[in-house]
Amino acid sequence: MFCRKCGTRNDDNAYKCTQCSEVLQELTPRKIDNNLGLAILVTVLCCLPLGVVGIVHAAQVNAKAQAGDIAGAEESARKAKMWSLWGLGLGLVVFGGYVLLALVGSAL
Ligand SMILES: [Zn+2]
Repeated sequence: MFCRKCGTRNDDNAYKCTQCSEVLQELTPRKIDNNLGLAILVTVLCCLPLGVVGIVHAAQVNAKAQAGDIAGAEESARKAKMWSLWGLGLGLVVFGGYVLLALVGSAL
């Protein structure tokens, strides 16, 4: 988009003009899903270390969005989801391993 004040071309989701700091969008843009629920679920249910990393990233989403850093907020949301899904996958693998061991153990 172009700045209405100085005409400088800015990123489409830029909050402020890079040239003159004119506010280009309202401070409350579209809601970004911070994936915090997923991260907490992973932390509680399966994989604490990866879930915590997910929570840390999820917590940065709202702070960055409020500061006008939409790209940063979306990046944090993406990382929160990625770490949570890794935690979920790892948790399932570990759980599957336990089940397998239990089955093998009871068969012997
Ligand atoms: Zn401008």
